[in-house]
Amino acid sequence: MKVTILGSGTSQGVPIVGCTCRACTSTDPKDKRLRVSLYIETDKTINGKPLRILIDTSPDFRQQMLLNNITDIDAVLYTHYHVDHIMGLDDIRQINQLHKKYVELYANTETANRIRQTFSYIFDENTYKGGGIPLVNLHEVELKPFDVMGQQVIPIEYKHGPTTVYGFRIGDLAYMTDCNFIPEAEFEKLHGLKVLIIDALRYRKHETHFSVDEAIAAAGRINAAKTYFTHMTHDIIHAEASSKLPVNIEFAYDGLMFEV
Ligand SMILES: [Zn+2]
Ligand SMILES: [Zn+2]
Ligand SMILES: [Zn+2]
Repeated sequence: MKVTILGSGTSQGVPIVGCTCRACTSTDPKDKRLRVSLYIETDKTINGKPLRILIDTSPDFRQQMLLNNITDIDAVLYTHYHVDHIMGLDDIRQINQLHKKYVELYANTETANRIRQTFSYIFDENTYKGGGIPLVNLHEVELKPFDVMGQQVIPIEYKHGPTTVYGFRIGDLAYMTDCNFIPEAEFEKLHGLKVLIIDALRYRKHETHFSVDEAIAAAGRINAAKTYFTHMTHDIIHAEASSKLPVNIEFAYDGLMFEV
């Protein structure tokens, strides 16, 4: 699988509008963070091309497609309904038009309900379609392995403050953004990972996200061969913060690509 980090920033992104802190004014491209999203070209094929899975449609989705030269998506997995994870959905229209196809969406029931509510025009038969609406099939999934066009996906359920979030394991990769508590039973799904991507918001504690120390502890227990941290605020200056991490753990950055 070929994996690309499309965004590694918290809900406001980095730089934050109007902020003059060191991270927000840094000239290091690794300190520029769009909202979190992941792109995977799996080793399954569909119509002779790799099956392409996106995790979340961030508010920066359009820009992320352009920056990474991505022109096709087959399926989107949704972690949860917070606006930094869903708001780019309308821009799926261009995928529909380019490839004359629907895009398949997968979400748990709560997230699916919020998507139907937030994007009611997509699911309302009476919507005037002159400007085009996203053509999508929204599939509700439960906490058991499910099939995405021939690719098995294992959902991992955990807490993000009061919100229940789905992470996803695909082969030896697991993606667990927006997390501050992993139930005991879910650790069993995380054995033998080559790559883990997990939430590490900032150094200070937060009510709904792992701090860096909490993420280091969780990553240590999961013990993937390699761990990347994501969903960072402007408290993280990439070059400085990276030097303080244990071996096998790195802060992700936008545009980071690797194979699993
Ligand atoms: Zn988020
Ligand atoms: Zn700042
Ligand atoms: Zn969230």
